[in-house]
Amino acid sequence: MKDRGNITDLEAEVVYNGLCCYCGTCGAFCKEYITFEHELPITKKKCYEICGACYDFCPRTSFAPYAVERAVFGDIRADNLLGYYRGAIYTARAKEGDIRDKAQDGGFVSTLLAYLLAKGDIDAAVVTKATGEWEPEPFIATKREDVIAAAGSKYTQCPAVLGVGDAIEAGYKNIAFVGLPCHVQGMRKAQLSKLFDVHADRVKLLIGLFCTETFDTTKLRKKLTELGVNDIRDVEKFNIKKGSFIIQKRSGEVLKTPIKKMRDCVREACNYCYDFAAEFADISVGSIGSEPGWSTVIPRSESGLELVNRTEAEGLIDLKELSESKIEEIRNLALYKKRENLRNILARLEPIRVLNMELEPEMLKNFLLLERTSP
Ligand SMILES: Cc1cc2nc3c(=O)[nH]c(=O)nc-3n(C[C@H](O)[C@H](O)[C@H](O)COP(=O)(O)OP(=O)(O)OC[C@H]3O[C@@H](n4cnc5c(N)ncnc54)[C@H](O)[C@@H]3O)c2cc1C
Ligand code: SF4
Ligand code: SF4
Ligand code: SF4
Repeated sequence: MKDRGNITDLEAEVVYNGLCCYCGTCGAFCKEYITFEHELPITKKKCYEICGACYDFCPRTSFAPYAVERAVFGDIRADNLLGYYRGAIYTARAKEGDIRDKAQDGGFVSTLLAYLLAKGDIDAAVVTKATGEWEPEPFIATKREDVIAAAGSKYTQCPAVLGVGDAIEAGYKNIAFVGLPCHVQGMRKAQLSKLFDVHADRVKLLIGLFCTETFDTTKLRKKLTELGVNDIRDVEKFNIKKGSFIIQKRSGEVLKTPIKKMRDCVREACNYCYDFAAEFADISVGSIGSEPGWSTVIPRSESGLELVNRTEAEGLIDLKELSESKIEEIRNLALYKKRENLRNILARLEPIRVLNMELEPEMLKNFLLLERTSP
């Protein structure tokens, strides 16, 4: 990948190269030229401006983890699997029943957003809402009911960063955003860009969700039919727990299938993703490590940590520190994702040049004696 490029380079290197994770960042700040069809960006109108913002913001053209950590957290990670974090890792649960009823896990995300909107600390929260047919759409929440209506996980991809573009265009000045690790990476690139100012600094809080993968919509629908769900509107909730994909129907029926059997539904671009724990968010939230009905919470930035403490002090959540053995469960899942996907990444790498040496990527460490091998 190059340092700079334009839409043609973005299409060649990312979109038609199986790397586009459909995060929406490229189109969020260039609506004139970039739209989305079949879960990929397309340009219906030829762009002659060639400014290159789309290429610069895309998390799949390049991403510099340590530079982002230094800029956002003021320091770099000590934990290679979970990324940089401040102090402890927690498990949390909303105290309010309306949030608990609708949330995916402990409702920490929705509690925090509803609180910040009520206090006026943010004027909009960009979240992901599902249509009746489970099609996820970016949504600008400005009140508690909006936040609750968008609670719960959608396991197909949403170009959620488009909602940030809409919120900025609508004039919101203090925005919170909830996204998967790829969305957060795209947002960080837009915020830290030295070349383009799209007012991404109006996003004051990035909440990241843990993520192993998302499913391709068409393949998921086909799989649901195979599992006996003929109408997706009958589904109340999807979940992934303890190695199973769980479908809870409105009728009360619960269907389960091993997550391994969902492998063929995974979006191609997810196979090259090395971020499980939303490593560049202000606060990351997931379920692994916590008891059912609770969320795992990793505060990373100073403001993220302050917010976690504030929601507890305000009496909105129950909050407990996670034990080291539970944190190991999170690390193990992150390790699994990184190892599996690193294999896929290495399989696509071309020989690496270090000064005048040209080496196969997997031999680099051996050759430079970073790993000692004896005959
Ligand atoms: C695709 C996906 C994969 C996940 N994989 C894992 C995993 O492997 N392991 C794990 O521990 N946790 C995973 N999670 C996180 C977990 O499912 C919960 O989202 C998390 O625990 C927060 O729960 P909560 O009750 O605090 O959130 P809630 O209060 O229910 O709020 C959830 C928020 O997430 C937003 N949201 C939902 N779906 C999406 C989406 N597709 N894109 C962007 N934003 C969305 C909603 O708008 C809402 O604001 C995943 C989530 C998603 C969406
Ligand atoms: S105008 Fe700039 S951001 Fe928009 S498509 Fe062209 S190169 Fe990309
Ligand atoms: S910014 Fe996101 S949606 Fe656009 S090309 Fe890159 S990965 Fe795909
Ligand atoms: S696995 Fe990575 S690329 Fe795929 S949806 Fe999750 S964060 Fe995005």
